[in-house]
Amino acid sequence: MAQSEPRGGADLDLEAIESEMRERLGEIRARGADLKRPPERGAAIGFGKRIGDGTSEAIGRLTEVGVADSLDAIEERLERALAKLAEGTYGVCDSCGEEIPAGRLKIAPESSHCVSCAGSATPG
Ligand SMILES: [Zn+2]
Repeated sequence: MAQSEPRGGADLDLEAIESEMRERLGEIRARGADLKRPPERGAAIGFGKRIGDGTSEAIGRLTEVGVADSLDAIEERLERALAKLAEGTYGVCDSCGEEIPAGRLKIAPESSHCVSCAGSATPG
């Protein structure tokens, strides 16, 4: 056996996790780029429309921006997790250096913090 397994207990399929995260990252980037694209000039809200129409358009736009923001956050987490995979620190908490439980990684593969550090709102 040329390859050594750094983590004993965790039976995580890192290759599957990496390809899944890359796939999600690609989707998020595609969606984020789409949402952030500036609206067609003057096309969406015409002055001739009733006020109600314009208002719902504006609200829809705000909601989309909110979605784009949270996609950014997810993108960041996925990028960090992929970086950790590359560094060989995947599954290790960025804050305290403890192992992140495999169960947590199975639910949220992009986790770069253990449950207690993620819960205590540690900056970074
Ligand atoms: Zn931690």
